[in-house]
Amino acid sequence: METVIYRLPDPREDTWLEHAAETLQRGGLVAFPTETVYGLGAAMSHPPAIRQVFTVKVRPNDNPLILHIYELGQLAEIAREIPPVAYRLAERFWPGPLTLVLPARPEVPAEVTAGLPTVAVRMPSHPVALALLRKTGIPVAAPSANLSGRPSPTTGDAVVEDLFGAIDVIIDAGPTGVGLESTVLDLTGDRPRVLRPGGVTPEMLAEVFGPGIVEAPWRVEAQRPAAPGMKYRHYAPKAPMKVFAGPVEKVREAINGCLRMDLPQGKKVAVLGFEDSRDRYPGAIFKSLGEREHPEAAAHRLFMLLRTCDREHVDQIYGELPTTQGVGLAVVNRLWKAAGGDLIEL
Ligand code: AMP
Ligand code: MG
Repeated sequence: METVIYRLPDPREDTWLEHAAETLQRGGLVAFPTETVYGLGAAMSHPPAIRQVFTVKVRPNDNPLILHIYELGQLAEIAREIPPVAYRLAERFWPGPLTLVLPARPEVPAEVTAGLPTVAVRMPSHPVALALLRKTGIPVAAPSANLSGRPSPTTGDAVVEDLFGAIDVIIDAGPTGVGLESTVLDLTGDRPRVLRPGGVTPEMLAEVFGPGIVEAPWRVEAQRPAAPGMKYRHYAPKAPMKVFAGPVEKVREAINGCLRMDLPQGKKVAVLGFEDSRDRYPGAIFKSLGEREHPEAAAHRLFMLLRTCDREHVDQIYGELPTTQGVGLAVVNRLWKAAGGDLIEL
């Protein structure tokens, strides 16, 4: 398939929007930027297109997709029994990186929900995403625009790397902001529960719900509700990866212990660490996660760094973990998953 790439800002300003919206409306696939990661969109009204999303991503078909909307009015087309708190959350966090899981309307195709009675929905804040959704006028089902299992794409190049030739249109508008996928919040249970931590943090959710109400563990990303756990290796670089939690000095000691084993064997080793550890891993390739106190930088860079490790053909990756404060919770979750669960607590 011929893939048309638009790099924004594009002199063909009006054509990209029209072409991309028409492509979605006729059942084609379009990759577009959001403030979290790049998404691979198909219109909700075209179940065969949604099946094609699963095919090109090689995504397990029991992993449901998120529907993307541009105005609150579309919510009632998708979800039913919408509790008042959903509107309060929407008012506070939409457009933005919060996905709500609600009871699905029967009109939502099973291809979107993977046959579940619930549906996930969010309103992204990226101006390109919003413009595209508005022009298309139909809710758009969009998972991350990567091959399943690989680090999510935070640049247009990462989308090209994974999906060029397999989809109709790629809109490249530069690096995404948050850098990690949205927070998925399930509102269908007895208690609100974070199924996947993201840019909207538990601390921010507590501003709406009050303290201690929302359940937000970092060890889950439910592939389907009530079936949390490590079903698939996810966000994973090609090299094996191991991550360390605990006091900074102990983490450095442990990683250096590993390096003393690996380096004499001629292994090319990368360490994902915070800026204050830059000179602490002699012999390794240091990849900076930014300032330890500001996990937003780690979130923004993480997937790009993992893809760089792939391109540089490193043999082994070690990672330092931030604290679970704020967006740090989401960073810990993704590093844990990227490491296939190989997390050492010191
Ligand atoms: P992706 O868009 O690739 O980041 O994946 C979508 C995420 O949303 C996955 O983690 C899904 O498990 C989650 N999700 C989508 N729909 C539902 C749903 N109805 N219930 C629970 N989680 C969902
Ligand atoms: Mg994904």
